[in-house]
Amino acid sequence: MRAIVLGGSFAGLLAARVLHDFADEVTILEPDNEQEHRTRSGAPHRDQLHALLAMGHDQLERFLPGLTEELVDAGAHLGHGEQVQFYIDGKRRPTVPGIRMIGASRALIEAHVRRRVLALPRVQVLPHRATGVRTHAGRVYAITSVTPGGDCHELPADFAVDAMGRSSRLGRWLEAAGWPAPRIERLRIELGYATARFHRGHELPDTVVAHSTPGPASNYLPSVCEPGALTAVEGARWDVVLAGYTGYRPTSDPAAFVNRMRRCVAPIQQVADLCAMEAEPTTFHVRDSRRRHFRELPRLPGGLAVLGDALASVNPVYGQGLTLATLQASALHRHLRCGASPHLPATGYFRRAGAVVDAAWQLSTTADLAQPHVTGPYPFGYPLVRWAADRVTQASILDAEINAAFSDVLHMRQHPRVLTRPRVLLRTARTLATHKITRPT
Ligand SMILES: Cc1cc2nc3c(=O)[nH]c(=O)nc-3n(C[C@H](O)[C@H](O)[C@H](O)COP(=O)(O)OP(=O)(O)OC[C@H]3O[C@@H](n4cnc5c(N)ncnc54)[C@H](O)[C@@H]3O)c2cc1C
Repeated sequence: MRAIVLGGSFAGLLAARVLHDFADEVTILEPDNEQEHRTRSGAPHRDQLHALLAMGHDQLERFLPGLTEELVDAGAHLGHGEQVQFYIDGKRRPTVPGIRMIGASRALIEAHVRRRVLALPRVQVLPHRATGVRTHAGRVYAITSVTPGGDCHELPADFAVDAMGRSSRLGRWLEAAGWPAPRIERLRIELGYATARFHRGHELPDTVVAHSTPGPASNYLPSVCEPGALTAVEGARWDVVLAGYTGYRPTSDPAAFVNRMRRCVAPIQQVADLCAMEAEPTTFHVRDSRRRHFRELPRLPGGLAVLGDALASVNPVYGQGLTLATLQASALHRHLRCGASPHLPATGYFRRAGAVVDAAWQLSTTADLAQPHVTGPYPFGYPLVRWAADRVTQASILDAEINAAFSDVLHMRQHPRVLTRPRVLLRTARTLATHKITRPT
């Protein structure tokens, strides 16, 4: 089997890793190979703080054994227990002993994944930009591409994976080849992000990750505490990110950034007070969360899968994107391992990957729709789901068992439906009844 992966960023590299187990040759097309630069033009968001959730970390280690050790040798930090701190409405959640998170920049993680994947004997990368798909007899048979010098190619393929990110043009290419394009669902969020880097000395020796969001007690507004996160990364640095919606987006002004850090949770305040800024804030604007509904298509060519942001790109404040890509890679592995013909429509893959996307989408949009500026569309039963989610969130601050269940969902180890199990709901009711809490307004 000849496989072609369109896009050689995080999801494309993972797709290539999976395909290597089944294909005679795997070719990655990636026009932007300036890997030594933190900010590639093909993935400009790479410069922002990236948290890798526990499930994503587990999956990376599964596909690339020993990666954690390599990252730690390169200066990354492995956070366990007390070193991984999650806050909601300014209050720290109980520690979850089984959770570990890696403190590293996205650039470092991706560079190591890339090195490992490109070292596989049947994987190569070409600096081509993909320009279209060719189909015949119900399946993809080639990918068209152009080199940096402008030469056009038609590359034969038995199986192609779109990993071209959230702006993928695959839908248009399918239409041009006579196939229907997937529906794109969007939820407008108008998120502003800004990441700055600080020198890391001996302050906060017991912190690798600190993450803080507003919750039900503040009606999801930054009134009690600014939303933000910090991560200890390679090179004795802290990466600090601040987030805000619509007109309240963080800017690239260093003084304003530090002032805003002083209204965050304690670890972020301490970095503002004690550490020198090494790199000024860089900003990023995310207009919407979006996903493409390939499962709905009445006809889909064989030999085609879609991974990463090209399939679904959700609000980054929940840190799900990289982990979603690892879980989709796992779905692709299962699909091919079950003996599915690469020439037939990959419906099994889209079903499995779709289930993972549904869970991430449900989690992120339930919280996004609680934002006053996000005006829908609301899914059926939203008020009840939101009411229950608010109560479980509040109880998770007070009760370690509920928090452990909540944390498994947050880290994508479990489906959000585990939070509606009778045991969790009963314990939530008991916890809230025995504690005096601030009710949501
Ligand atoms: C501000 C911000 C913060 C984030 N924070 C987090 C976080 O904390 N944790 C987390 O897990 N996720 C986070 N994410 C999400 C994460 O960055 C994405 O989910 C991830 O980058 C998806 O990887 P990808 O490979 O699908 O797409 P991308 O990284 O966007 O890569 C797409 C690739 O396709 C290539 N390409 C494009 N067109 C073509 C073409 N025609 N031919 C060939 N190649 C092409 C591009 O050059 C690029 O390399 C964040 C996102 C943003 C925007």
